[in-house]
Amino acid sequence: MDNPTRCSVIVIGAGISGITAAKVLAENGVDDVLILEASDRIGGRIRKEQFGGVTVELGAGWIAGVGGKQSNPVWELARQSNLRTCFSDYSNARFNIYDHSGKIFPSGVAADSYQKAVESAIQKLRNQESNITETTSAPESPIELAIDFILHDFEMAEVEPISTYVDFGEREYLVADERGFEHLLHQMADTFLDTSDGEISDTRLKLNKVVREMKHSRNGVLVKTEDGSVYEANYVVLSVSIGVLQSRLISFSPPLPKWKTEAISNCEIMVYTKVFLKFPSKFWPCAPEKEFFIYAHKQRGYYTFWQHMENAYPGSNILVVTLTNGESKRIEAQSDRETMKEAMEVLRNMFGDDIPNATDILVPRWWNNRFQRGSYSNFPILVNHQLIDHIKAPVGRVFFTGEHTSEKFNAYVHGGYLSGIDTGKALVEEMRSEKEKRIENNQSFLIEPLFGLTLAGQPDTPRQQHFLHTNNLGAPKAIS
Ligand SMILES: Cc1cc2nc3c(=O)[nH]c(=O)nc-3n(C[C@H](O)[C@H](O)[C@H](O)COP(=O)(O)OP(=O)(O)OC[C@H]3O[C@@H](n4cnc5c(N)ncnc54)[C@H](O)[C@@H]3O)c2cc1C
Repeated sequence: MDNPTRCSVIVIGAGISGITAAKVLAENGVDDVLILEASDRIGGRIRKEQFGGVTVELGAGWIAGVGGKQSNPVWELARQSNLRTCFSDYSNARFNIYDHSGKIFPSGVAADSYQKAVESAIQKLRNQESNITETTSAPESPIELAIDFILHDFEMAEVEPISTYVDFGEREYLVADERGFEHLLHQMADTFLDTSDGEISDTRLKLNKVVREMKHSRNGVLVKTEDGSVYEANYVVLSVSIGVLQSRLISFSPPLPKWKTEAISNCEIMVYTKVFLKFPSKFWPCAPEKEFFIYAHKQRGYYTFWQHMENAYPGSNILVVTLTNGESKRIEAQSDRETMKEAMEVLRNMFGDDIPNATDILVPRWWNNRFQRGSYSNFPILVNHQLIDHIKAPVGRVFFTGEHTSEKFNAYVHGGYLSGIDTGKALVEEMRSEKEKRIENNQSFLIEPLFGLTLAGQPDTPRQQHFLHTNNLGAPKAIS
């Protein structure tokens, strides 16, 4: 084996958190950074694809939290890039609930069911807070099940008050730009990586490098990729998703301490799938207030939440249906043809037998993608703050970043972005302090063999404990 090249920092993963962390490091004079990305592109869960003549977003689609007193930093980036966006108002969905015979529920019935579901959800939360085991009545009818799905898998997946809306405002904008949401990442990469003809040509970004092993000691980190390459660094920033951490795609030597592995396995993963269907013509109501509609079925989450793309791309003749968790996994396991058949049956129930067949379908598979293993983190409703502290705390020279490490904004693009900034800053501080200590002790770096001393069996060292104090963005504070 050739001697691996040593750099200051290896960033694993080129999603928004990894790219942002690398940018912060570069801005602070740390430019011998290597970015290892498993797939053949940057962006991670921000991903566009051409479908039915337009650009659709398979992953993040909305900039959530706009219009408040404080500006959402991702909204700022979108404005600087002139990203095309459309205002989205899901609240109209509850007035467009179809039953299996195509009738829309009268708004009074829908409003009552909605109110009941909200009250029951709030009661459930209160019971949990006060450790009361009394169960609230479970939704039973198709409309109750549909509303329960919308409330829990969309609107109230988080504990109220939702920091994103409190801090940045309650509006949401759908990205509808031919360059894709991922354009923001390319803009960011352009500020610190070499590009040529609009493509990143910088050799510090290495695509198709699947990290499989990490050996870490108090002197540095050695990283091995699936193709047999070996890289060495003083530090690693690990930005892979919580699903990837749970999947053990990457092995650690010494193994991660118990407090870390327990925190990782206690964080839930949400699978969220947008299925795109292209039609030769429209057969659904196209008014802006009809953008979102709901199908009430006896099986919870069965092709429940629909959106037409006429507001975003007029004339595109595309519908999007969102499935989550069990339903997402079920359709990922079957052929797209089968999924199209099921979706058409549901559409025929809502709009009649005469509607045309879809001509194309796109089914993203976030669960089966071994570089994602799900869509985003979902902390338990009554979150234990120690859980998040442990998820984001560094282990020796391995720093953790990504949406799942953001206490206030996990699951969102801005959560990934802000976590990248915080981890980048924390690492810069750590490097500074290490340098100062070396000067004080008149030591040159790496006088000891790289893997002479490991961190095995040293959970919660004072240094790691120090990281458990968080700043207001919910990421680790720099150590002093
Ligand atoms: C379907 C869907 C819908 C969403 N909708 C929204 C939305 O509307 N609004 C919103 O704000 N957010 C949304 N999100 C969430 C948002 O996309 C994420 O929170 C954010 O993009 C996460 O960024 P990240 O940098 O933390 O992780 P990622 O983007 O996952 O980046 C991690 C990177 O690590 C790479 N990687 C994984 N394993 C390895 C390995 N072994 N070696 C090297 N590289 C590796 C991956 O390929 C990936 O590029 C959605 C996500 C999904 C999937």
